[in-house]
Amino acid sequence: MAEDNNLSKIISHCKEYGFIFPSSEIYGNLGAVYDYGPYGAPLKNNIKDYWWKAMVQMHDNIVGIDAAIFMHPTTWKASGHIDSFNDPMIDNKDSKKRYRADVLVEEYIAKIEAKIDKEVAKGQKRFGDAFDEAEFRRTNPNVLRNAAKMEEVQQKLVTALESDDLTVFRDLIIELEIACPISGSKNWTEVRQFNLMFGTKLGALAEDASDLYLRPETAQGIFVNFLNVQKTARMKIPFGIAQIGKAFRNEIVARQFVFRMREFEQMEMQFFIRPGEQHKWFDYWKENRMKWHKALGTADSDLRFHVHEKLAHYADAAEDVQFNFPIGFKELEGIHSRTDFDLGQHQEFSGKKMQYFDPELNESYVPYVIETSIGLDRMFLRLMSEALQEEVVDEEKGTTRVVLKLPPALSPVKVAVLPLVKKDGLDEKALDIFNELKFVTDTIYEEKDSIGKRYRRMDAIGTPYCITIDHQTLEDNTVTIRERDSMDQERINISDVNQIVLQRVDMNNLLRQLA
Ligand code: ATP
Repeated sequence: MAEDNNLSKIISHCKEYGFIFPSSEIYGNLGAVYDYGPYGAPLKNNIKDYWWKAMVQMHDNIVGIDAAIFMHPTTWKASGHIDSFNDPMIDNKDSKKRYRADVLVEEYIAKIEAKIDKEVAKGQKRFGDAFDEAEFRRTNPNVLRNAAKMEEVQQKLVTALESDDLTVFRDLIIELEIACPISGSKNWTEVRQFNLMFGTKLGALAEDASDLYLRPETAQGIFVNFLNVQKTARMKIPFGIAQIGKAFRNEIVARQFVFRMREFEQMEMQFFIRPGEQHKWFDYWKENRMKWHKALGTADSDLRFHVHEKLAHYADAAEDVQFNFPIGFKELEGIHSRTDFDLGQHQEFSGKKMQYFDPELNESYVPYVIETSIGLDRMFLRLMSEALQEEVVDEEKGTTRVVLKLPPALSPVKVAVLPLVKKDGLDEKALDIFNELKFVTDTIYEEKDSIGKRYRRMDAIGTPYCITIDHQTLEDNTVTIRERDSMDQERINISDVNQIVLQRVDMNNLLRQLA
């Protein structure tokens, strides 16, 4: 992650440059709902494209679907969401602010972890090249004390999460002396359960209308279609079904930009396997997904796996891919071994067999499932956190630039065509090039403002290449191609432009790394 990036810088950049706007802004915003703008929407589409191609195009045993947001209400009874899709919430009586009880404790743990990291950084500074981090973590008394404390609190959090008695949670918050970040007071209400699903009605007349929910995850649309897909696409186990779509959760705490939204998008894949093979496939998908993340050039130290403290009611293993967001290491993607829970439940509630006949074993069974589930908006935030950088361009003059170093294949605009000036026929020549390039990739034409200003604007929206048409172009049919990150300029023939640009921004540059 770019070191000096904090969330507020990212939020203002997203707004100023047309990536993300607060929803219904003219009416004073809607909490934790956002609209994607002219550069945000294509960036989001490119992330989807990278995921879809990596999942569906690159795996001959994965197919994609697009299920409806509304589902039969029994779906949510069967899946367990009506009974247990709850978060424990607590209010501070002085600030009147509401928090997730588990998040308050997790933040307490994160503070202890930050103390350990600070101690390690101090050691690193003191011992320089001779520093052995593993040895230091094993022996330094301050690190050991804090690590033991962290372990103890983590254990207590698990006990609280697993307990049906919510006073255990409140007692833990009181015991840890956790204060409200706003009022600083420790004056807490009881802990209550809060169901995260949004309800709505289907039908015109109130008395006939039936209760519906906006789906809180896309996965159930895959499970209920398991047989339809397996039969029509003639899939043999192991196989996967992928889907990208909106999900809705009435989040209690929604103060972290697109990290936690009430309306968001998920990219989920359910991989159906033989019972008993879940450990092998869980490891396979962990490795596969980490490869996908790392192909984007992220530093190894900014991505890690995190084992769930408490398993969801349906899971027999669960790990998160965490990214080092400006708000700390947080979940970006979940990889879950969901057993036969979902298909089994739908079989029971619908009365329809959700089984697969395995010709090799000559037997029928309810398949087990490994799920990979990533939030598109969190992925967007991750890219922004890594890409947004402020750089010194000229130390003597003290000039700086803001540049968005997005992977070229994901950039909303791949190439800008810029006539040096809007006269002498340069603009016409530039338009000729633009009119060819637009068949190749996402291209824009810009003639307003000085060339320097236009380069800065392209840097700020992450355009990896600029083609500049100058007076020499009229003489020898060459143009310059400027690369965003190095700012290097190269002279190339107009006849080579399309091919050079295409080769450099090709999504296959990412996909080939996954092979
Ligand atoms: P968290 O613990 O952060 O609430 P979760 O464990 O409930 O997340 P999952 O149910 O596993 O999340 O959902 C899969 C993915 O969907 C998450 O890894 C995340 O990227 C994304 N996601 C979940 N909730 C939200 C949200 N409110 N806003 C944006 N993305 C979300």
